[in-house]
Amino acid sequence: MGPAPLPLEGKGPLSLLITDIGTLVTNDPALGSGPLGVVPDAAVVVEGSRIAWVGPAAAAPAADERFDAKHRAMLPGFVDSHAHLVFAGDRTAEFNARMSGQAYTAGGIRTTVAATRAATDAELDANLVRFLREALHQGTTTVECKSGYGLTVADEARALRIAASHTPETTYLGAHVVAPEFADDPAGYVDLVTGEMLDACAPHARWVDVFCERGAFDGDQARAILTAGAERGLIPRVHANQLSYGPGVQLAVELGAASADHCTHLTDEDVAALAGSATVATLLPGAEFSTRAEYPNARRLLDAGATVALSTDCNPGSSFTSSMAFCIAVAVREMGMTPDEAVHAATAGGARALRRTDVGVITPGARADLLLLEAPSHVHLAYRPGVPLTAAVWRAGAREF
Ligand SMILES: [Zn+2]
Repeated sequence: MGPAPLPLEGKGPLSLLITDIGTLVTNDPALGSGPLGVVPDAAVVVEGSRIAWVGPAAAAPAADERFDAKHRAMLPGFVDSHAHLVFAGDRTAEFNARMSGQAYTAGGIRTTVAATRAATDAELDANLVRFLREALHQGTTTVECKSGYGLTVADEARALRIAASHTPETTYLGAHVVAPEFADDPAGYVDLVTGEMLDACAPHARWVDVFCERGAFDGDQARAILTAGAERGLIPRVHANQLSYGPGVQLAVELGAASADHCTHLTDEDVAALAGSATVATLLPGAEFSTRAEYPNARRLLDAGATVALSTDCNPGSSFTSSMAFCIAVAVREMGMTPDEAVHAATAGGARALRRTDVGVITPGARADLLLLEAPSHVHLAYRPGVPLTAAVWRAGAREF
């Protein structure tokens, strides 16, 4: 099937009826059963880029075009709220060494920094487009993208400029690690990140992030960086508590960050702080998988009442996967999530982490981001790990796959 025809001039956008959906996950409890708002034997009507109608197939209105879902399962397109996709080169050798017994540290990021600085704009753009297509074919229709492999004013600004031409969810991560030129002067690097580099990057970014970790930035440095970003209108999100216990989660909650990401090493106080706040706990099981590390405990966070998102952390060093389905399967097997919770975290949870209400749901008015599975149920995302289950993908109403 080719792309949908363009709307005719003088007429409203064409409408599409997707019918005979065996199981529809809406993530709107008002539309169906349970927290996922599941509607059996469902239909969806798309008008232009938006959802116009959701309900039982038997009650569906007529539309210009019709797509038969053949009783397969549909859910919102995945919202990947944490990815690092503007880079060059890869780190196969480092991964191979790690799987042969070496430990992961934050320092490997510098390998990618050198390759990224040496790449042309066109090479970085082509790499990014390749990864976005790869993700889209696996059902991911919203992707957040961070800088952080440039670590100079010009290289960070160009990473965000390139990312911003493909997604509105761009994150300034000049504070990924201390740039190699500042190895003996980390305070000088923080001054750069909160000064000239921020000035150059803020016009291209929506979010500001910092890797708050031993070997990267401590709590005081992270606070200075996030506060400076917030003063320029960027909303904080934090790489927090990944490799060790630390101040990242508490800082994220205190500063009203949209998300605290990783959350692998949490005290009871950290869990309580997340549960009592609007800061989403974004879990990134690809990182623990790829570093043979202990997984975060999603069950503990969910039982405490925290909002949990799942994301890929796609990057060439510690999590080189763009597969949200893989993250769902690992989260169910290793992190105590039910399949329903994991699917919710990978869709509505990611939307919460990006403070978006138009994605991660299938409800009238939302963007028509739809994933049809080659399966009768969304549970198959965890039940059939590693199997390509994408049957069709629409993004903003356009058939993409
Ligand atoms: Zn990350």
